[in-house]
Amino acid sequence: MDDEQLVQITRKRSIPEDEFYPAINRMYELVWERLLPPQIETDRLSSRVAKSVVTPPEAEIPDCITCGVCCASMLCVGVRPGEEPAEELTWSITRSDEQGEWEVDRYLRRDEETYTCSALEGTLGEHATCRIYETRPKMCREFEAGSDRCHALRRAYGIEPFLSLDEMMSARTELDERDRTPPSPDIITRVATERSERSGELCIRVWLAGGEERTIHSFDPAVETWRQFEFEGIKLATAEALITERSALSGQSDRPPAHPKT
Ligand code: SF4
Ligand code: SF4
Repeated sequence: MDDEQLVQITRKRSIPEDEFYPAINRMYELVWERLLPPQIETDRLSSRVAKSVVTPPEAEIPDCITCGVCCASMLCVGVRPGEEPAEELTWSITRSDEQGEWEVDRYLRRDEETYTCSALEGTLGEHATCRIYETRPKMCREFEAGSDRCHALRRAYGIEPFLSLDEMMSARTELDERDRTPPSPDIITRVATERSERSGELCIRVWLAGGEERTIHSFDPAVETWRQFEFEGIKLATAEALITERSALSGQSDRPPAHPKT
């Protein structure tokens, strides 16, 4: 994908899923080629302080107002139903077939030149603020200042000094140890919102770490809103509880369950 194509895609309000992921991958390349090399891959690091293995518990918590780099570098910030910031701040990710188009995800829009979150104002590393701080998505609220991932991003932007070789080796050993534990077989590793060939309804289909795949819900998009990213990385039982809770709110709790493995 050339950069002019990328600019054209970022200007759309709604982006087909098969255009969105190549575009976001290209944005990651462009963002990371401007940064210092990560000493530890950021996707191995937790964004929760309690789950950090690199940062000592007594380390000082950085000040977000003088930073903003997570809002510049974490490109896929999902917007859950009900969170809905102003439309111009989001992209709607869609899929379509001969019967029509439906939304499968919604993400915070990125600036077409810098790729920072479109709600971010100010200058990175100096003074950065969020225009929608009080109503920012859950994903932003759960990203904790002082976590391993926060510090790793600050190092990549040159705001914090690099880890020493000893610190890096010891962190890698701990992460390798943690990653040797296989994921729970009921963790959802992939999600697709598809149209059922049999009923014509939209269905949420998930693939589990243990190898099983199943359809966990079918729904009318005029009545219920679901985003795929909501299910990624959570346990099947948690996904089912979420569906029960939201379906009850939208008055669909008496719908028959979707057929497993369809
Ligand atoms: S990287 Fe850390 S310190 Fe910087 S804005 Fe994000 S959470 Fe705050
Ligand atoms: S919504 Fe606010 S906190 Fe979230 S990524 Fe954008 S600027 Fe950062």
